[in-house]
Amino acid sequence: MEVTFLGTGAPWAVGRQTLGLFITAPGCEPLLIDTCGGFAVVEQLRRAGIDPRTVRNVFITHRHHDHAGGVPALLLGGLPLQLHGTAHTLAAIRDLMRSGFPEWADPAGTAFVEVPARGMCEIGGLALETVPVEHRVETAAVRVRAGGRTLAFGADSLPCEGLVTCARGADLFICDAIWQHEGAERAHQLMHATAAEAGEAARAGEAGQLALVHLGARAEPAVMLAEAEGAFGGPVRIPDDLERLAM
Ligand SMILES: [Zn+2]
Ligand SMILES: [Zn+2]
Repeated sequence: MEVTFLGTGAPWAVGRQTLGLFITAPGCEPLLIDTCGGFAVVEQLRRAGIDPRTVRNVFITHRHHDHAGGVPALLLGGLPLQLHGTAHTLAAIRDLMRSGFPEWADPAGTAFVEVPARGMCEIGGLALETVPVEHRVETAAVRVRAGGRTLAFGADSLPCEGLVTCARGADLFICDAIWQHEGAERAHQLMHATAAEAGEAARAGEAGQLALVHLGARAEPAVMLAEAEGAFGGPVRIPDDLERLAM
């Protein structure tokens, strides 16, 4: 399995687009998890050497624009997308199309596929497990399994039981860490984890390695790395946009 980090930042991040992960695995159809924040998704796919017109399967963790906001851009390309998300998230995407592009609010060939916030499903040969996490709106973390390997993405979340469940035994745990401990109070107001809390979730879930994403404007990567490594005790990285990681 391989993941390309199309976007690794929070809104207002410096030098990073917002969240987008492109997953590939032998014998499976590619899966886009979250869609950056608008038309950036098309540009990021191109910059990563991925033809945007090949995108079919999309999973959206929650309705916030830094995750769901690229869906209209993809739909404008006339792509026959299979959009997966909870009923709450899919309703928000329909609203987004209705408000922004009412003339194309019901794009032909596009399927809205409802998934439970907690459950199992299969998308293009990949086995997915969704886990509810704690954020300002309904949010589903996701575990993707193929070829005996597990990639877990905690989406946006406070440290919580769901985040540990998401990380459980994953070969790679990709976790929201908006910034370092110094800004913990504000992070918690926004219902995000800090780098140390991402490390604690990775340790509690016995993940193999941890990648910190969703870095905000206050993020100091060197400090975050040290804090997460201290809490986790395993390998931690902070990927840049367009970085690719095989696992
Ligand atoms: Zn969010
Ligand atoms: Zn976010």
